[in-house]
Amino acid sequence: MQQTYGWPFMTVHRAGLQKCLVQGAAESGVVQLHLGNFITEYDFDNTRFKVSGKGEKEPEWVQADVIIAADGVKSKAREAMLAREGIKDEVEDTGQAAYRIMVRRSAINEDPELLPFFTGTQSYRWIGEKRHIIAYPIDSGDLFNMSTTQPDRHFVQADTWTAVGSKSEMLKTFHDFCPRIQKLLNLVPEGEVLEWKLRVHKPLPNWVENKAALVGDACHPTLPHIAQGAAQAIEDAACLGVVLSKITSKDDINSALQVYQRIRKPRTDWAVMTAAENSKGLHTDDKDARNAAFASSDPGSNPDKMISREVHDKLFLYDVAKETEKAFDELFADVKAHPSAPPRAARM
Ligand SMILES: Cc1cc2nc3c(=O)[nH]c(=O)nc-3n(C[C@H](O)[C@H](O)[C@H](O)COP(=O)(O)OP(=O)(O)OC[C@H]3O[C@@H](n4cnc5c(N)ncnc54)[C@H](O)[C@@H]3O)c2cc1C
Repeated sequence: MQQTYGWPFMTVHRAGLQKCLVQGAAESGVVQLHLGNFITEYDFDNTRFKVSGKGEKEPEWVQADVIIAADGVKSKAREAMLAREGIKDEVEDTGQAAYRIMVRRSAINEDPELLPFFTGTQSYRWIGEKRHIIAYPIDSGDLFNMSTTQPDRHFVQADTWTAVGSKSEMLKTFHDFCPRIQKLLNLVPEGEVLEWKLRVHKPLPNWVENKAALVGDACHPTLPHIAQGAAQAIEDAACLGVVLSKITSKDDINSALQVYQRIRKPRTDWAVMTAAENSKGLHTDDKDARNAAFASSDPGSNPDKMISREVHDKLFLYDVAKETEKAFDELFADVKAHPSAPPRAARM
């Protein structure tokens, strides 16, 4: 990865990534965080939103120049945008669920069979019929992070972010996986099995309403099978950073946001589709066909899209800030001339 793309492939705890983003925002000197607030209503005509704060405080309207709604797969901003078009917002079940679990190095008692998982830099994928596990060390090798996918048996409530799953159900689900997996799963502390329902949304026709835009899972929630949900959300942010820095009048905010959508949508549509395709290949019932596909694949193209060279090239040879810089003037002029034209294919 370092040789081909210039950077190592790193795996990181999501809390660690979030801390870096918070630190970067704080160091910019222009970001103020207001934590513990819940947005209950949007007024896109006047670029404002209603916030209910902690405790007894009355809900209040907050006036903005631009609204960037990064409120996740259950986005209230998306619901409000679709409502203006008379469309009911519906998140789709994928029929898949995930356990998110971690094993601490202190728990393995330096077991030589498990130690390499903590001391290397590799990621691992174990594949079985209708199920897989992806795992990698994080936190400087103190933790081995494991994320599974299996058919959703509806024991996860759709309206919670995560639920505590049953360890015995998890063990049952992966009972036929290899002995090292059995050891690892048994070491997960009772009560630390998180279960997520994997949900997506039909591709949206539009991410922008007046001076408000959706980013991340709010507009392109995805299955996690090429590990691109957060990555694409961060690319969205980089693109927004460039387009908003290009304009000199608040009157151009909507046009800048339209440019953002035209640049980002083709790429995120591709990433969402590739992740969905990958689950078909990985989770097939036809073990022999799957194994034959792996055995006959050439180095450039792998049935597991997550390690396919073609997919890597598309993901890692792309510099979103540079591409936005390059495309901005032409797309901005086009948006100004034809504000409601369908998105032109930008380079992805
Ligand atoms: C099992 C699994 C594995 C994954 N693995 C990877 C991976 O390896 N790599 C990768 O890149 N991505 C991965 N992802 C995807 C990644 O987690 C998401 O794409 C990413 O978190 C999306 O970020 P976001 O900021 O758009 O939304 P979120 O992370 O969902 O954040 C939304 C935030 O908005 C807040 N919010 C919601 N509504 C309101 C409101 N009304 N008012 C105020 N706040 C509100 C929420 O509390 C939350 O903090 C994985 C996802 C799953 C489920």
